[in-house]
Amino acid sequence: MTRTPATSSQPTTYELLQRHGVSRRSFLEFCASAAAVMGLDYSEVERVVQALETKPRIPVLWLHGLECTCCSESFLRSSHPIAQDLILNMISLDYDETLQAAAGDQAEQIRRDMIANHPGEYVVAVEGNVPTKDGGVYCTIAGETFQHILEETAEHARFVIAWGSCATNGCVQAAKPNPTGAVPIHKIIKNKPIVKVPGCPPIAEVMTGVLTHVLTFDRLPELDRIGRPKAFYGQRLHDKCYRRSFFDAGQFVEHWDDEGAKKGWCLYKMGCRGPTTYNSCSTVMWNGGVSWPIGSGHGCIGCSEENFWDNGPFYSRTADVPVPGINSTPEKIGMVAAAAAAAGAAAHLGTLMIKRARGSKAAEGDGSAASAGDEGGQA
Ligand code: SF4
Ligand code: SF4
Repeated sequence: MTRTPATSSQPTTYELLQRHGVSRRSFLEFCASAAAVMGLDYSEVERVVQALETKPRIPVLWLHGLECTCCSESFLRSSHPIAQDLILNMISLDYDETLQAAAGDQAEQIRRDMIANHPGEYVVAVEGNVPTKDGGVYCTIAGETFQHILEETAEHARFVIAWGSCATNGCVQAAKPNPTGAVPIHKIIKNKPIVKVPGCPPIAEVMTGVLTHVLTFDRLPELDRIGRPKAFYGQRLHDKCYRRSFFDAGQFVEHWDDEGAKKGWCLYKMGCRGPTTYNSCSTVMWNGGVSWPIGSGHGCIGCSEENFWDNGPFYSRTADVPVPGINSTPEKIGMVAAAAAAAGAAAHLGTLMIKRARGSKAAEGDGSAASAGDEGGQA
């Protein structure tokens, strides 16, 4: 980790990578994959290359509020071939309570020096949320409340990145009854551009992609209506899920370890929130693309969505929807937004049922029969 505050005379990312023995080929491979992860056209790869070759590293102050540090864990375990080198060289991580060697007064002085000497140049990355009850005493660092540290540091920042669900929507600390009065950071920081990168934790390559975008284009990526990068949060898991054909065919896991579970059928009736969750898990996946939660047999719990801890039990169906072939008596959902999105899934299922009913009538007419499997993928 660099201890000296970054300046424009600092080496570029590529220069640092060269010093660490990273080959030109590996560097270009990273630029191409970073561009792909960011959803950029192949023609934009050259811009990524140029930025990392010519621009000094981004000075970053990484703050930790009320959280479990899983975002740091995810970030540091990015599995791209050269990511560990690249990530730690791409940004100038001038302050991070969990990674820095400095401690006590020395560490806090680094943060204050950066604010005083580089106003408007640095990025504040925030992991964790802000407890506001009882004067903010439930999270203090070096004798100061996290709320004060966040306000002081963000005041002269260029951008703010909210890592993970704690910083973006409050996560478990803000779930009812929220004893510490925890709030996401946008409730505290009102006058700075904030990019929200939710997830518990976010996918490492998504975090890398956001940082690469900021470095390459010197601005935040295009955001959706709630401040998430569209490139990573623009699609529902459900739309790219490899179990989708089973959903469409009405083939669902009913109990853990039943025949459907062994055959890899859809987990919707086991509580899967893929139809209401926007994230890159079904495309970028986890652990370098090895797998993802649904690939491992567990439904999505919607960790990148607002208030996901309060949004009903994880193992119950999330909407009162007709499911092909059964009389459903599912639980009610608590969140209107989730209900609206789930209604889309319900409507889709309803359409399939209508098609199925029509198919049966037609079959009665012409003597043929359509199987459930024949309907897969005909959304
Ligand atoms: S409900 Fe879940 S398991 Fe089923 S297709 Fe959608 S995302 Fe995949
Ligand atoms: S599958 Fe769902 S719960 Fe799991 S990490 Fe992805 S968005 Fe979060």
